[in-house]
Amino acid sequence: MTEEKSLNFIEEIIEEDLKNGKYTSILTRFPPEPNGYLHIGHAKSICLNFGLGIKYGGNTNLRFDDTNPAKEETEYVDSIKEDVKWLGFEWANELYASDYFDQLYGFAVQLITKGLAYVDDSTAEEIAAMKGTPSQAGTDSPYRSRSIEENLRLFKEMKEGKYQDGEKVLRAKIDMAAMNMHMRDPIVYRTKHAHHHRTGDAWCIYPMYDFAHGQSDSIENITHSICTLEFVPHRELYDWFIEKLEIFPSKQYEFARLNMTYTVMSKRKLLQLVTESYVSGWDDPRMPTISGMRRRGFTSESIRNFCDKIGVAKRENMIDFSLLEFCVREDLNRKALRAMAVLDPVKLIITNYPDGTTEELVTENGPDESFGTRIAPFSREVWIEREDFMEVPAKKYFRLFPGSKVRLKSAYIIECTGCVKDNEDNVTEIHCTYIPESKSSNDTSGISVKATIHWVSVPHAAEAEIRMYDRLFKVEDPSDEEGDFKNYINPDSLQVVKPAYLEPSLKDAALGTSYQFIRKGYFCLDRDSTVERLVFNRTVTLKDAWSREVKKG
Ligand code: ATP
Ligand code: MG
Repeated sequence: MTEEKSLNFIEEIIEEDLKNGKYTSILTRFPPEPNGYLHIGHAKSICLNFGLGIKYGGNTNLRFDDTNPAKEETEYVDSIKEDVKWLGFEWANELYASDYFDQLYGFAVQLITKGLAYVDDSTAEEIAAMKGTPSQAGTDSPYRSRSIEENLRLFKEMKEGKYQDGEKVLRAKIDMAAMNMHMRDPIVYRTKHAHHHRTGDAWCIYPMYDFAHGQSDSIENITHSICTLEFVPHRELYDWFIEKLEIFPSKQYEFARLNMTYTVMSKRKLLQLVTESYVSGWDDPRMPTISGMRRRGFTSESIRNFCDKIGVAKRENMIDFSLLEFCVREDLNRKALRAMAVLDPVKLIITNYPDGTTEELVTENGPDESFGTRIAPFSREVWIEREDFMEVPAKKYFRLFPGSKVRLKSAYIIECTGCVKDNEDNVTEIHCTYIPESKSSNDTSGISVKATIHWVSVPHAAEAEIRMYDRLFKVEDPSDEEGDFKNYINPDSLQVVKPAYLEPSLKDAALGTSYQFIRKGYFCLDRDSTVERLVFNRTVTLKDAWSREVKKG
């Protein structure tokens, strides 16, 4: 039985619009401002917008909302394109709001001509003071009654660079007593002598978000313009501009933005983490950015599944970071290659195994037979995890202790005979004997053991540095805490383990391939890795340690 997923509220609107013939096909857009790298919140918007395009046989544009010259850079444009592609989506058109500057200027002139916009010489402070409050009407600017001719001339002069930043603005003439503060003669254009990443120095006036965004939607014939809830109060203005300009009637719909525990999700804050070196860059594997998650080993499929699972809501909520990790584990459990790696090594010597001999043992590559097998070299000395041995075993401890038997994965059953310690009582070597008839591929020993442990042959091991990541913040909602959000950074969010010993096949690991280091978690090669120095990232643990912590209290 397949369960029909119920429609989200935007899908309901679209199905209605298609059914009653309002549209024959839909066009959505994803409109990032190129002032930072995309984060998991953007992934939700990408999955929603592109997902709707795919589901209803329509299209989706990638439009860079680049109307603010000061903060935008080409580096960001390139990273955004890479991230959208990596998430698995294809845009119909790559567009830039800055390509519409001429058209937008024309729209502003139309508003002036209709008596619906005026040039205001008031300062920013004066404009703010005249705005009123939600419970008190604003007051008209003394420049509100300028003639159409004068406004046309002044606006043209603004464009020609006759005025300094802040000297004059163009405002829509709506209603200074409107209930909605956004309708109290909002600013449409401001003067800003700044270099733009695409238009260079061609312009010294730039349209405000509210004027550029809806008009860009309309220019592209976007049918459903989807944004986050904070734009609800902007919708009236969005509709007003479109109505007065008599252009394509794009419609705005708002959904709840994604908020996640133990991280921050605003480009402004993420930029601070980067510039103040709290992290190594935008793609630091602890960052909630798409590039950070990719580097950490999260798969695009798990991110898409996550976005699907959390759905599209009309009310703000906080999603547990563990849910994303759950989706990553679920995907990697099916996909990741299996390998052996010892992260906290101690030497095990098999005293009755012939010195100088190497056996090539066959072991499984993946979660099922379709992944095939590989060879793991085995010899007299192997690395094992320190925690897999206890000189004096705790209760219910079934791994190695003097007298106990365990299986070495894909190899032999061994019996522990003792250990060697240094002056400070640290175990430096563990000794055992092996049972030759117990070889995994042909076990005739008749012995059963309660534990299987992983290992790496000492002379064949590849040495590596392993980066273990934890939550970037110690508190669920750092933005909600008192003082600077950076005070709540988790000091243990990165732990470097070295040397770890990996089975030699991992020397050929490729970037972007996921491994399950058996019993240890999911890992992937980091781009810092070199032939001399392998570097792996822990993508996610095998189990959710945090929710267990919480349960333990
Ligand atoms: P930030 O506040 O992180 O800087 P933004 O909204 O300014 O984000 P934009 O580049 O303007 O970033 O966003 C592009 C699109 O992604 C917008 O449609 C925006 O609504 C959406 N978006 C941004 N953050 C989230 C989020 N946390 N959840 C869902 N959608 C988001
Ligand atoms: Mg924005």
